[in-house]
Amino acid sequence: MKPITIIGAGLAGLALGNALQREGVPVTIHEAGTLPRHRVCGEFICGRGATALKELGLSAALDGCALHKSTAWHIGQRTVLHKDLPTEATGISRHLIDQRLAESFQKVGGHLAMNQRIQDTDLDEGRVYCNGRQLTKSSDWIGLKLHCTKLQTTADLELHLGKNGYVGLSAIENGRVNVCALVKRNPALKAPRSDWLVTYLNASGLNVVAERIANGGIDPESHAGVAGIEFSSIPTSKAATLRLGDAYSVIPPFTGNGMSIALESAEITFPFILKYASGQLDWNTAKNSIDERFHQHFDSRLRAARILHPWLSHPLGQQTLASLSRTHLLPFNLLYRLTH
Ligand SMILES: Cc1cc2nc3c(=O)[nH]c(=O)nc-3n(C[C@H](O)[C@H](O)[C@H](O)COP(=O)(O)OP(=O)(O)OC[C@H]3O[C@@H](n4cnc5c(N)ncnc54)[C@H](O)[C@@H]3O)c2cc1C
Repeated sequence: MKPITIIGAGLAGLALGNALQREGVPVTIHEAGTLPRHRVCGEFICGRGATALKELGLSAALDGCALHKSTAWHIGQRTVLHKDLPTEATGISRHLIDQRLAESFQKVGGHLAMNQRIQDTDLDEGRVYCNGRQLTKSSDWIGLKLHCTKLQTTADLELHLGKNGYVGLSAIENGRVNVCALVKRNPALKAPRSDWLVTYLNASGLNVVAERIANGGIDPESHAGVAGIEFSSIPTSKAATLRLGDAYSVIPPFTGNGMSIALESAEITFPFILKYASGQLDWNTAKNSIDERFHQHFDSRLRAARILHPWLSHPLGQQTLASLSRTHLLPFNLLYRLTH
């Protein structure tokens, strides 16, 4: 079998690495950081993600996860929507799922090399880029996340829309709640790092939820933050290198579909790379077939999510959402289908 090199031990890289290595393909994953670690993520898997893990034989990675059936959306202090989710979603921390996938990869003989940042090159045969979202200085968006140990929620997933962004509260394993915000950077806000999330929510007019979080038993080890989040454009032509998950394109986080795209892209990629490794397909044919499937599977949901995202973060869009919901004209299930 020909060897495969994967760059990035996130969900896409670990899922693909597990599936290939189990079939006897020698896989090395290079990871810039260390695992497990807390990451900025709502930790809410919505869409086909759990099914993709099952298809790859990795469903044990979700053992003990929280199951999500309902969602409640709020603008400031007002509840504008309380609904059952069209399909059940899953809540699990990245710390736990990444650790499980890294352990099972190593158990089947995979080589995980941590603290190794690999430069992007055009060298592509046998290399799969799973190196996540690209950060840019020109983007104002920052992501902040923490876990609470005693926070009660009004639905399995609460979404609070504020002046300069939004925050999600979502149940994960062991009765914990993930709190994850996407907000516009404001250099005028001064606070210790551990208070950033609550400070940003207060500045966005989300004082009530900020107070619930502050009193919700924050786990000091769970803080994570990232600046310069870019919602990159959808690749239009055949990519020079094979890119999975966020490295292919980033879906706005309100959909809770980014992890699912990472897992689905590993599921789509797996049979083609297996054929390449066993000499049944050449690299370019495998790569072009994967590229075609990615466009078919992901591009329409990426486009729809990107159109909706500015509405959620702009006061006018939020008012429209509230009015449509109040008059029962909000096509929630249709919008869900278009973005998942
Ligand atoms: C604020 C926010 C909230 C979110 N909430 C949700 C949510 O609730 N649900 C959901 O499904 N998605 C959510 N997402 C998106 C989700 O986190 C991503 O879509 C998902 O992590 C993508 O997985 P991935 O494997 O492609 O990349 P990642 O999980 O980002 O993994 C990429 C890995 O590559 C490594 N790496 C990077 N560069 C290199 C290099 N040069 N060499 C070696 N290694 C490298 C990184 O260290 C990292 O470990 C959210 C995102 C944000 C910003």
